[in-house]
Amino acid sequence: MIQVEGFKGLKVIRSKRRRKTVSATVDKGILIVRIPSRMSRSEEAHWVEHMRKKLLGKQEKKKSRRSDSALEERARRLALDYFGELEFTIVWSSRQQQRWGSCTPLDRSIRLSTNLKNFPDYVIDYVIIHELAHLLIADHSPEFWQLCSRYPFTDRARGFLEGIAFADSYADY
Ligand SMILES: [Zn+2]
Repeated sequence: MIQVEGFKGLKVIRSKRRRKTVSATVDKGILIVRIPSRMSRSEEAHWVEHMRKKLLGKQEKKKSRRSDSALEERARRLALDYFGELEFTIVWSSRQQQRWGSCTPLDRSIRLSTNLKNFPDYVIDYVIIHELAHLLIADHSPEFWQLCSRYPFTDRARGFLEGIAFADSYADY
């Protein structure tokens, strides 16, 4: 694997079908750059550097959107929008391997699994809503789900998370 700054590695794919276009993606941390097969080595180096910077910029943006402070800001907004004034703290936690989130009503602290970081916004928002609702109702009673359903994407997000859990349970086979 070729080493490249900011990524786990670099893979350059030369394609005969490509005439002019260069594209790049990141797969499992590896930067993959597709270039036309006729490109010279110096052109290749130029485009790899160009794409490296471009995708690194995108990743940085995503990272800052998933920071603790961004999470807190988002949770405060969701709390106000759906439940009104609530007192709580919220952080990302890498120790939440079994669950997507947890809420300790005693000290009003919420933890969200870092495994959620790459998930769509509406799914993360749902998990925040779920944990916020636990500040009001500790169990999973119908009243609790009624609170959650104030958030319009609750069903959709639960379906997404069920799909992930289902896929994970088959991952060992
Ligand atoms: Zn719950």
